[in-house]
Amino acid sequence: MTELIDDRWLSELAQAGHVLVLTGAGMSAESGISTFRDKRQGLWAKYRPEDLATPEAFAANPSHVWDWYQWRREKLRDVQPHAGYFALAEVETLLPDLHIVTQNVDGLHRASGSRQVIELHGNIRRSICSATKRLIDDDWITSHADSPPPSPHAKGAYARPDVVWFGESLPEDALNQAWRLARQADVILSVGTSALVQPAASLPIIGVQAGAVLIEINPEPTPLSAQAHHVLRASAGTALPAIARALAQGR
Ligand code: NAD
Repeated sequence: MTELIDDRWLSELAQAGHVLVLTGAGMSAESGISTFRDKRQGLWAKYRPEDLATPEAFAANPSHVWDWYQWRREKLRDVQPHAGYFALAEVETLLPDLHIVTQNVDGLHRASGSRQVIELHGNIRRSICSATKRLIDDDWITSHADSPPPSPHAKGAYARPDVVWFGESLPEDALNQAWRLARQADVILSVGTSALVQPAASLPIIGVQAGAVLIEINPEPTPLSAQAHHVLRASAGTALPAIARALAQGR
């Protein structure tokens, strides 16, 4: 896969003081997790995520929304990070200041050893109180068969997944950190995101306006492609290991 690697941008990456990696659902596609825009199959195929992943849907039918998330959590049990994930964790050890900002809620970056990870949209494996947003222990969830379990933190409230739903604000600290990282980045890698969901989609643009070199890794064109300085039309599982190998060889 050496033809994927171009010495021009590889040396920009190798010499970058600050690197930001923005990942989206395509990053996890080769681990077997569907993106929302894939052709859907199975039990929940007739429901659009946009209709289930909202505060209004949860208020109208908490059990229906909770069951959908339980189904997604079940599917995650068998999922392993692919080679691209481990390669990214290795790149973090080779470059002095690399941060990952992910839109994914599957927790695979940390599971594969990456340490500097900002989860913009939360983490599906955790649960919070629907009223107070305080974290709820896994033990509490597993010891309640209700759908959804009641919240231990507020009377009449429920447990809900710790994810940002459509129409909700992103966690302020995570978002501020992401803006700061985008503005200070020398190189931004945008991996597996359609660059359609805001505000994450603006991060690479902010970075480019502040002088960053933008490299896109995506088998398909996106609205970001025209602004990218370098485009790798390859999957994350192919491109990231090739980058890690090339950086490790110091070429
Ligand atoms: P998206 O579904 O809009 O776009 C996915 C992008 O990944 C597409 O541009 C596609 O061409 C690309 N892609 C597909 N396979 C790829 C591969 N093997 N390697 C690299 N790129 C590949 O995803 P998005 O931009 O992240 O926005 C969707 C929203 O849905 C996000 O907010 C995210 O939180 C959520 N979501 C998360 C997960 C997850 O946690 N794994 C899964 C589905 C959706």
